[in-house]
Amino acid sequence: MITAQKALTRLVEGNQRFVSDLRHQSKVPSETRRSELVSRQEPLAIVLGCSDSRVPAEIVFDQGLGDLFVIRVAGNIVAPSQVGSVEFAAERFGTRLVVVLGHSGCGAVQATLEQLQRPGSSQSPNLKSIVDRVRPAVAELVQSGLAESPGALMQHAVRANIRASVDHLRHGSELLEQLILNQGLLVVGAEYSLETGIVDFFDGCPS
Ligand SMILES: [Zn+2]
Repeated sequence: MITAQKALTRLVEGNQRFVSDLRHQSKVPSETRRSELVSRQEPLAIVLGCSDSRVPAEIVFDQGLGDLFVIRVAGNIVAPSQVGSVEFAAERFGTRLVVVLGHSGCGAVQATLEQLQRPGSSQSPNLKSIVDRVRPAVAELVQSGLAESPGALMQHAVRANIRASVDHLRHGSELLEQLILNQGLLVVGAEYSLETGIVDFFDGCPS
């Protein structure tokens, strides 16, 4: 099984290809590759990303069939089913890299900021369950001077929300904690820029 560091290098290189419009031919789905994957898979990374249509993990990292185990949910939040999905892949496939992938201009983060600034606006209970998970990470920012500058507030809130999900995965599961301590599991946070296409691994990457 590929180490976390090697997997990270593959994702960084894949993102560079994506940004330069140089997608790898071997990443194009083929019948051969499909057949190889019928009875086994060895995803090199687990990605917990936002559902946003503009941030599909396989495309922004230029990866192919069987390469990534992807969990997508609005706001890349961590609820028990997300932790369970990460545990499943880390244990079952031996995948050693977990990436929380947020992005600039995230609608779920924006909705949470709006809710904090204008409490009382009606919301479906299901949507509220997402906002409730984003809120603790960004509430303090709204109270700070940053609220005067909506652009800066949003940028900080996106990163704070990614860090909160990373933290939850690192410390919210005994199984993952053991894998981190003893088996080289690495959980990192990254932000995708809608403007440039670049993924910035800003949290937890070994230098
Ligand atoms: Zn989003």
